[in-house]
Amino acid sequence: MNRILEPIAPPAPRLSWDDLASELRAAVGADTRIAREEPLGARTTLGVGGAARLLAEPAGVDDLRAVLRIARQAGAPLLPLGRGSNLVVADEGVDAVVVTLNHASWSEFSPRPDGWVRAGAGLRLKSLCGQAVKAGLQGFEFLEGIPGSVGGSLRMNAGAMGGWIWDVTEEVQVLRPDGEIAVRLRAEMGVDYRQCRGLEGAIALGALLRPAAQAEGEAIGRQIDVYRRKRQESQPKERSAGCVFRNPPGGAAGRLIDEAGLKGAREGDAQVSAVHANFIVNLGAARAADVFALMRRVRATVRERSGVQLEPEVLCFGRSWEEFL
Ligand SMILES: Cc1cc2nc3c(=O)[nH]c(=O)nc-3n(C[C@H](O)[C@H](O)[C@H](O)COP(=O)(O)OP(=O)(O)OC[C@H]3O[C@@H](n4cnc5c(N)ncnc54)[C@H](O)[C@@H]3O)c2cc1C
Repeated sequence: MNRILEPIAPPAPRLSWDDLASELRAAVGADTRIAREEPLGARTTLGVGGAARLLAEPAGVDDLRAVLRIARQAGAPLLPLGRGSNLVVADEGVDAVVVTLNHASWSEFSPRPDGWVRAGAGLRLKSLCGQAVKAGLQGFEFLEGIPGSVGGSLRMNAGAMGGWIWDVTEEVQVLRPDGEIAVRLRAEMGVDYRQCRGLEGAIALGALLRPAAQAEGEAIGRQIDVYRRKRQESQPKERSAGCVFRNPPGGAAGRLIDEAGLKGAREGDAQVSAVHANFIVNLGAARAADVFALMRRVRATVRERSGVQLEPEVLCFGRSWEEFL
C-alpha cells in the first residue's frame, strides 16, 4: 500500500546518529547544514509529527553526494523531503537522514533560447508559475496553488485542472542510489496516477520542462487567477496535506466521505474538512496520532457504507501505512 520511500540504503545504521552527524559535518562545506533531531512538523503543510534523527540541507550536488555516500556506508536510510505538502510525519519522527533541497542553489529557473526551462528540484511550483508569467511562457498555469516543489511534484506526478507535471516534463536529472547522476527521459520513469516509479529510491535534482507556447504575461496571469479562485472556493484554508485518499476507479474519495456523513468529524485537533471531505485539516494542535485515528475512522465508515476500501494518497513519511491504518 505504501508506495513511498523505499530507503536508498537499508535501515539500522552501523554508527550512532551522533557519530554519523560528526562524519557528515566533516565531509561537507560550511554552507551545508547538518542537524540532529530536527523537528519536521514545521517543515510540512499539515504541521504534525516528530523529528528527523538527522537532517541534511546540502548547498550543492557535491555535498549531496557526500551525504548519500556516508549514509550508505553507515547503513542509514536517506529520505528526500520537498515542501512536505503531501505527507504525514509520525509523532515518533523518522529514523533516517532526511535531505531537503531548500538551499537557493536548487531553485534554478532558466529558460533556454528555445523556451524550454531548466528547473531545479527545490524550486517551488508557486515560484515556477510566477517566473513563467514574467518570461511569457504558457503551459504551467495548472500548477498554481499546488504547494510543492518541482522534485516532490515529479515524485508524486502532481496534477490539477486536467494537467500533470509529467505532461510538461521532457527529462529529469536524478541522483541514483549508487551516487551516479543520470538524465532520464519521461518514457523511462514509470509515470502513472500520483506516482513515478523511477523516483522511488532516487533523488530528482532538476528537470527540463516544456512550455506549451510563448504568450503575453498578462494572459497567463489571468488564467492563473482563474485557477486560484477555483481553489479558494473548493479547498479549506486550514493546514492540510492536500487530498488524503486516492480517488477509487471511476469515483471520488471526497464524495464517498461526504456521503458517509463524515464532514466535520474530529479526533483531537484533526478534522475532516467541512469544505472538502477528502482533506483532513489541523485545527491547531493536532498530533499525527489524531490524523491516523481519523483516517482509520474514515476508512472504516466508508467501507461499511459503500464497500469501497480507500487507500491513502498522502504518504506516511519514512514509515509504512500498515503500521498505522
Ligand atoms: C492545500 C494543498 C493543495 C494540494 N493540491 C494538490 C493538487 O491539486 N494536485 C496534486 O497533485 N497535489 C496537491 N497537493 C499535494 C502536494 O502539494 C503535491 O503532491 C506536491 O507535488 C508534493 O510536493 P512536495 O515538494 O511538498 O513533496 P513532499 O510532500 O515533501 O514529498 C512527497 C514525496 O516526494 C519525495 N520527494 C521530495 N522531493 C524529492 C526529490 N527531489 N526527489 C525525489 N523524491 C522527492 C518525498 O520523499 C516524498 O516521497 C496539495 C497539497 C496541499 C497541502
